[in-house]
Amino acid sequence: MKGQNYIDGRWVDGAASFETMNPSDLDEVVGTYSKVGEEQVREAMAAARRAQPGWAAFNMQARADMLRKVGDLLIERSRDIGTLLAREEGKTLPEAIGETIRAAQCFHYSAADVVRAQGEWYNSMRDGFNVLVTREPVGVVAAITPWNFPIALPSWKVAAALAYGNSVVLKPSSYVPGAAVMLAQILEEVGVPAGVFNLVMGEGRAAGNIMIDEADALTFTGGTATGRVVLNRAAETMTKCQLELGGKNALVVLDDADLDLAVEIASNGAWIQTGQRCTGTERLIVTKGIHDAFVERMAKVAGSYKIGHALDADTQIGPVANVQQFNENLQFVKDAQGEGAELAAGGVALEGRTRGLFMAPALLVNTKTEWRCNQHESFGPIASVVKVEDLDEAIHAANDCDYKLSSGIATTSLKNAERFRKASQAGMVMVNAPTAGLEYHVPLGGRSPSGYGPRETGASTAEFFTETKTSYINHGAL
Ligand code: NDP
Repeated sequence: MKGQNYIDGRWVDGAASFETMNPSDLDEVVGTYSKVGEEQVREAMAAARRAQPGWAAFNMQARADMLRKVGDLLIERSRDIGTLLAREEGKTLPEAIGETIRAAQCFHYSAADVVRAQGEWYNSMRDGFNVLVTREPVGVVAAITPWNFPIALPSWKVAAALAYGNSVVLKPSSYVPGAAVMLAQILEEVGVPAGVFNLVMGEGRAAGNIMIDEADALTFTGGTATGRVVLNRAAETMTKCQLELGGKNALVVLDDADLDLAVEIASNGAWIQTGQRCTGTERLIVTKGIHDAFVERMAKVAGSYKIGHALDADTQIGPVANVQQFNENLQFVKDAQGEGAELAAGGVALEGRTRGLFMAPALLVNTKTEWRCNQHESFGPIASVVKVEDLDEAIHAANDCDYKLSSGIATTSLKNAERFRKASQAGMVMVNAPTAGLEYHVPLGGRSPSGYGPRETGASTAEFFTETKTSYINHGAL
């Protein structure tokens, strides 16, 4: 794959280029991409600024039709995009195709948002007046995305931004820009006017600073540390921010849980997609009556996965996405052992048929809530078990962590489920379901420091991608 930046309707090279590697096979280069120069980022922002008013005024039906067509083409090309994504990010092929279909669904959902009612008409306190509350595009949107969902994440940001009449400059993660290039090709093909959508690739900080300075709004997904940096930068220009950040999601398993279901949702949340989901389960908080049976079953499941090349048909868990994350994962397990955790399964590098970043899913047991392994995001296939007395202690442990993205409970008691649902401080709560696994028609996000600003996806997109205008109209004088 060769990818250029897409600025003002033209495909352009940068001053330099960079390569991406296949995490399933480090001997394979997947793509060569143009690295955007600072002047080109400014050009992209200026092009977006020029194009935005025209896009906001573009015929509504035509705008909706274009977005729907983007979704159609994503589905049509889901195998090609999925294959590239599997090679570049390391998701298994079914996961990668599934992610591409999700991206398409986001475009289809947002296409309908174009034509949904976008205003309210109020009676006034004053005779002869009416009050009109309307939503207008926020303007130029900077979108910065991480490496773990290379097509779905850019898609749900871009689709929502475009639906509400904004222009966009997208900067995908340098580890996985290929899917974003394919998305840009589709946006061009369906006829999105020049400058309305722009793609810039390269290192985050250099491009990011210019994007933040010159945008009206920043939608960012990435680590909490980077989130703090971009928020500080955005404060200078008071750029509106939506930040979706890290997680350290807890699943509580109570004595009254269905053990089979608890093991299924815990293992899915912790290890599937190589644990590289912001909503993945990293903490398992288990009451003492079910603890030993649960740990024994989880250790068996951890050892049963077929881990290997993302494109092999029988692979259940692909590689870790990049060398840096791979090294951090192995170090995380060592550090946890250093503070007293016992390794009940995995946690080590595995050999494969190719030179890939394969890691055995890790289960750390006999850990304490306050330990680093239960406070710092690992973002890998690593789960730590904390044994607790009862639901009270479980609720306390689940909330006793800075991150507040997603949480879950396995129980057959409606009363316990409802108590946990209300007490959890996470932005999303799952009952008898994995902490990961989100739907596109409802809000996504967590409380600070897992998130900041309006939630993503579903009805909450209007909050971020539009500005409200309140108009008082004195009909008597008209
Ligand atoms: P990073 O924070 O490292 O990077 C995210 C994006 O920000 C990349 O495009 C990166 O560019 C860019 N970037 C880096 N530094 C700056 C900067 N100073 N200014 C502007 N942009 C910058 O995250 P990862 O890519 O490592 O992704 C993993 C993280 O994302 C995890 O913490 C995970 O929890 C979180 N995440 C959160 C989700 C949520 O919805 N809450 C969903 C998915 C992931 P580049 O890398 O190219 O330099």
